Amino acid sequence: MYRPPLPRLLCAALLILLLAPAAASALPRANPVPGGVALVAIEAPGATAPKAWYRERRIMVLPDGTSSGRWFAVVGIALDAEPGTHRVESELADGRRETLEFLVVSKEYASQHITLKDTRKVTPPPEDLARIRDETPRIKAALRHWSDSDLVQTGFILPVEGVVSGNFGLRRFYNDQPRSPHSGLDIAAPAGTPVQAPAAGTVVETGDFFFNGNSVFLDHGQGLVTMYAHMQEIRVRPGERVRQGDMLGLVGSTGRATGPHLHWGVSLNDARVNPELFLPETTAKKPE
Ligand SMILES: [Zn+2]
Repeated sequence: MYRPPLPRLLCAALLILLLAPAAASALPRANPVPGGVALVAIEAPGATAPKAWYRERRIMVLPDGTSSGRWFAVVGIALDAEPGTHRVESELADGRRETLEFLVVSKEYASQHITLKDTRKVTPPPEDLARIRDETPRIKAALRHWSDSDLVQTGFILPVEGVVSGNFGLRRFYNDQPRSPHSGLDIAAPAGTPVQAPAAGTVVETGDFFFNGNSVFLDHGQGLVTMYAHMQEIRVRPGERVRQGDMLGLVGSTGRATGPHLHWGVSLNDARVNPELFLPETTAKKPE
C-alpha cells in the first residue's frame, strides 16, 4: 500500500528476503504482544487433542512435537488487545476443563504517513460506501473461518520474493487522516511476480474488493487463514486445494495501493497477527 522513497527502498533492498526452503516447523514463534501469538501449554495425557477457547472462540491446539501428552494452544492476539493477563479455557478428552492464564505485554508500533492522490480511497463517496458495506461481511467471514484439521502447516515460506515495504502493525495515516493499523506485511515486487501459497490450504474466498483489490483467502485449518491483496490477477477458485508453493496469482496494485506489492495478512482465531512469526527466523530479518 506504500512505496517508500528511493533511499529507503535502496536500504530495504539490502535486506532482501531470501526464499526459505519448505521448513515445516511445528509451531509459530511466540510473541505475546498485541498483533502477536501466544503459546499456552496444556498438559493432556493421551493421543486425543484437547480443545481450547479464547474470548469465546475456538483456537488452534497443536502437539508439542517433543514430548507426548503436551500440547500448545496457539493464540492469535488482536492488535487492539489490552496488555495484562488473558485467559484460555481448555477441555481435555475426558471432559475436564481448566482455565489457563498468559500475559500480553505492550508493544509500540511505528506510525506511517501515506499520501494518496485518489482521495476516493481515503474518504469514499456514498456509492463506494454501498460497495464496501456489501464486501465487508464476505471479508470478515473469510478471516474468521474455522475448519477442523489435524495437520495444520504453520511453517510458512514467503509468498513472494521481494522486499518488505510496510511492516505489520504500523499506525497509519492516509493524507493525514488516521485509519486502521496495518494488519499485514507489505512485500514490494514488480507487477506480474507470481504469488505462491506459503503453506497447504483451501481457497475460501476470492474477489475484487474496494480497498484490498483482487484478493485470495486461504484456509489452513484450525482458525488459521491467510490473505493476499492488490493482485493483478487471481489464478485460483474458491474450494480449490493448494499445496505449499502453488501459484495463487500475480502481484499488482489493485485497490488502495500506491505501487505494485503484495499485502499479506495472517488471521488466527480472527485476530490479525504478524505473518513473520510463521516464517523461519532468518527469513525476513530486519535491523532494530
Ligand atoms: Zn498492506
